[in-house]
Amino acid sequence: MGTQLKNNFHHYEPCPNGCGNLKDVRAKQCRHCYHANRRIRQHRRPNQANPQPAKISREWMIQFAGLFMGEGTISLHPRNQGTSVGVKFSMSLRADDFALMDDIYEKLGGVVYTTCDAPRLNPVLRWCLTGLDDVEWLLRQLVASTIIPAKKLRDVKLCLEFIEWRKSVPYHFSPENRAIALSFVERLRSIRVFKVPDSQVVSVPLGSSDLSEGQTISSPGCPGQGT
Ligand SMILES: [Zn+2]
Repeated sequence: MGTQLKNNFHHYEPCPNGCGNLKDVRAKQCRHCYHANRRIRQHRRPNQANPQPAKISREWMIQFAGLFMGEGTISLHPRNQGTSVGVKFSMSLRADDFALMDDIYEKLGGVVYTTCDAPRLNPVLRWCLTGLDDVEWLLRQLVASTIIPAKKLRDVKLCLEFIEWRKSVPYHFSPENRAIALSFVERLRSIRVFKVPDSQVVSVPLGSSDLSEGQTISSPGCPGQGT
């Protein structure tokens, strides 16, 4: 507000969308956000909807499971000062990946909205699904459809364990149940801490960079040297 000056010069201030760009003080948002939101608005699906199992083929769920293991998140979060714990699926895709997001919304429901994850990043479409029964249903589908040894499968199984426990206790937490619920949150946090397994740590002594004949390094992630 204090930066607004009433004269004929253009004045700029940070865009309120948190994109990191500057906007004209007379505009609601920067040009970047204006154009991005104009394209995206019609693709927002703000109403919470339920999964539609009748629309979902087995092949579709297997592909979704693969996508989710790469791009998705399942989270437990304390609500109302820890008197309750919510469970939520979320996944962000490029904001111009409308068709895929629409497909997910049509089949799995939830909500879809546009957001910006960090300054100067392109806007993303974020999909969220909450609701204990809907989340439980999808968690079971993911467990049944995932063959690859994705680390995220541990998150999925822990959240399923949480939901099974949650449904076995009264809706309003006793102090003991509140502590158990928060311990699930802590367990999920701790299994997500980034760890490199010992077997993957390769130590190469200094000065031993010359490999003798016949020695090979197999590391699919790195382009081969000298070939
Ligand atoms: Zn902006």
